[in-house]
Amino acid sequence: MRRMDRTPAPRRAAALALTALALLAAACGKAGSPPVKGPQPDELPVYKIATGFRLPDSPTWRKAERRGHLVVGAKEDQPYLGEKDPASGRYSGFDIEIARMMSASLGFDPKTISFRTIASANRETALQNGQIDYYVGTYTINDLRKKQVGFAGPYYIAGQSLLVRTDEKGLAGPQDLAGKKICSAAGSTPLQRIQRDYPRATAVAYDTYSICVDNLLSLQVDAVTTDDTILMGFAAKAPDELKIAGKPFSREPYGIGVPRGDNALRFALDDAIEAHEKNGDWKKAYDVTLGLSGVPAPKPPPVDRYPAS
Ligand code: GLU
Repeated sequence: MRRMDRTPAPRRAAALALTALALLAAACGKAGSPPVKGPQPDELPVYKIATGFRLPDSPTWRKAERRGHLVVGAKEDQPYLGEKDPASGRYSGFDIEIARMMSASLGFDPKTISFRTIASANRETALQNGQIDYYVGTYTINDLRKKQVGFAGPYYIAGQSLLVRTDEKGLAGPQDLAGKKICSAAGSTPLQRIQRDYPRATAVAYDTYSICVDNLLSLQVDAVTTDDTILMGFAAKAPDELKIAGKPFSREPYGIGVPRGDNALRFALDDAIEAHEKNGDWKKAYDVTLGLSGVPAPKPPPVDRYPAS
């Protein structure tokens, strides 16, 4: 026998909408954190720790050596890139694996890294103040930022894109942005691009993209904009609610941020990126992290070893 739901239709619709929101809220976490279930530690590559490695010309490396481990800045709410499990405090994702590979090449056991979550708007200050030794978190290399920090890499190329609700009909790409409310992270290149190139859109800025996604799900904004890598992760975790609209419309080369002027560290990280791309670690790490959002591993971009500055 089929049980009939006798709730009046409008009430039922409202209840369903509320249930959907509650489910999503649970999936996305209270403070805008994404669902966390990264790869299990036994699925992750193990990186060979360099023995006897020394980098005396790098003040950052010397400080880390005295401390006994590295302090690395990262994101904690970006699916498959940089996520923090609130229960264990463990970080996972492609950027986190890049940070671990670098640690191994610099002679520090990746298990000893102390990760610090740093939002997009605070990266330059964190590097300038010596709060972190390096930063790995969807950090676009550009000339303006190079005046404040150094960049090893790139180790990946992303592109700005748009995330909308699956029922969205009026927003299929950047050409439709006029009159729309678009959320992005403060201090990010995608936010700057919307403000500069799409002045008829209303840009809304928060500290993190997961807060933007919560705002999209609760109908406060029409779209979230940032790198396709980040948006694909959110879409992959809530495919019934979220989709990518249109094609990427910028080029975002990801670098490892280092304190400006520490050229020895920057060049050592450039070498390390190349070595891990060559020995297969990069691809292995990609496949068990970012690859899970649906895009097969691309060929890594060439490293841009720009002159000492
Ligand atoms: N890659 C862009 C940036 O560095 C957006 C992602 C982010 O905010 O981390 O600004």
